[in-house]
Amino acid sequence: MPPKGSIKVNDFYCKGCELCVTACPQDVLQLSPDRINTKGYHPAEMKSDGCTGCGTCATMCPEAAITVYRAVTQKADA
Ligand code: SF4
Ligand code: SF4
Repeated sequence: MPPKGSIKVNDFYCKGCELCVTACPQDVLQLSPDRINTKGYHPAEMKSDGCTGCGTCATMCPEAAITVYRAVTQKADA
């Protein structure tokens, strides 16, 4: 099972460049169709489940606007 993750976009810094949307291997990101930030851009957001927490979007973002959260999986006892 792939690791579960999620991301949070800081709307203030997002400039709607769509790099993260294009880069996401799971295709779970979109530019918000109905929200506009204070700079006049549609900020990126999650559109569906399936984020693995791979961090590609955060690496791509030129504004460092994305924080990635990754679920911690319990290790089996050794
Ligand atoms: S962490 Fe990976 S899977 Fe999750 S939204 Fe970003 S690029 Fe997509
Ligand atoms: S890469 Fe960063 S600035 Fe560009 S749309 Fe995604 S979150 Fe916004």
